[in-house]
Amino acid sequence: MKHIWQWSRSAISYLAMITTATLVLGCVAGCSSSTNTIDSTTAGTDSDKQETVVQLTDLKAHFIDVGQGDSEFLQLPDGKTMLIDAGEAASGTTVVDYLNSQDVEAIDYLVATHPHSDHVGGLIGVLDEFDIGEVWMPDASEGTETYNEFLDAVESEDCEVNKATAGEQIIDEDAGYEVAVLGPQSNIQSDDMNHYSIVLKVTYGDTAMLFTGDAPAASIVEDDPGHVDVLKAAHHGSATGTDAAVMEATSPTNIIMSYAEGNDYGHPDQSALDAAAGASAKVYSTAANGNIVVTSDGKSVTVSTARTGDVVAGVSAEEKARRESEEKARQEAEAQAAAEEQARQEAEAAAAAQAQAEAQALQEQQAQQETVYLTPTGEKYHRAGCRTMNRTKNPIPVSKQEAINRGYGPCGVCHP
Ligand SMILES: [Zn+2]
Ligand SMILES: [Zn+2]
Repeated sequence: MKHIWQWSRSAISYLAMITTATLVLGCVAGCSSSTNTIDSTTAGTDSDKQETVVQLTDLKAHFIDVGQGDSEFLQLPDGKTMLIDAGEAASGTTVVDYLNSQDVEAIDYLVATHPHSDHVGGLIGVLDEFDIGEVWMPDASEGTETYNEFLDAVESEDCEVNKATAGEQIIDEDAGYEVAVLGPQSNIQSDDMNHYSIVLKVTYGDTAMLFTGDAPAASIVEDDPGHVDVLKAAHHGSATGTDAAVMEATSPTNIIMSYAEGNDYGHPDQSALDAAAGASAKVYSTAANGNIVVTSDGKSVTVSTARTGDVVAGVSAEEKARRESEEKARQEAEAQAAAEEQARQEAEAAAAAQAQAEAQALQEQQAQQETVYLTPTGEKYHRAGCRTMNRTKNPIPVSKQEAINRGYGPCGVCHP
């Protein structure tokens, strides 16, 4: 397989002295062109070893937004490339497109942190599309369809495959930077694949970044990473991957979490965000900020994001269901209270109507029983002995109701 290694001389900030075979092509030092290309297939043909100055450029770590999953792409200071995970199988295209947008031609180191599908799934598509130098994975396996497909893709690549355990170096410090395997420890025994997550520390000059896969917090602490400028929060910002002990073990300046907005797992957990706040670390996430690129010049790091956004705690499916049923119960109680109020008002109205009917009936009954008097020519009815009837010889007695029914009105003097 042919490797083309390129580096830009325009952003040179770091020099490393390495011993290597004589480079027969290209101008390495003192060349005025902005880009040098060394064809490595022709390097090393001369057996004479001599000291060569390799100019290092910025280290760039790309945290690719793959939704619910992890994917980090590293452009190493000597131009080599490393891909750590690639999200779910459905995210393979996202990662391939991203790598193409970065003009990636080959991946020197492909790291599968652990067998879970949200880490290795997308690597299947990447293995199909790119030439891979070597693969690193933990000595762990699970018989899922996605993981088996990944293993098949690795086998078809026919490249070097390494099992990573703590203490190894993927790239040693002679390169002018270092990629060290801090985890998993060799004595791990667990049914939980997360415990086998490869934990990588990339050190360049005064700067360091830690990539943790889904490693549990206690494992990260045991790996003893020391201060890092960038911590890729383990397990998508869950409580299991980030706590106060991890903050103490890494004293991170920046923390990057990778998860999908509105995921069912409740990532990130409020306790992880609290731990980060307690350590005064700046927190970014792929859900809130999109693709995130961290650049190190060997002295300090800068973080750039596709968009600004606040990282807020997620809500798990369980919590969502609990809130929904709580809301449903609240609405039902509200509807019942409204129905009860309506029934109460109806009963009140019915009682009032009945009271009115009873009062009217009583009035009518009284009118039936009460006797009033009419005069032969008058239009009023009177009480017995009303002075207006003094000249009427025989007032006509009738019931008050009858007088009313016949169109008589009450006398204005005796008020019957
Ligand atoms: Zn996992
Ligand atoms: Zn995961």
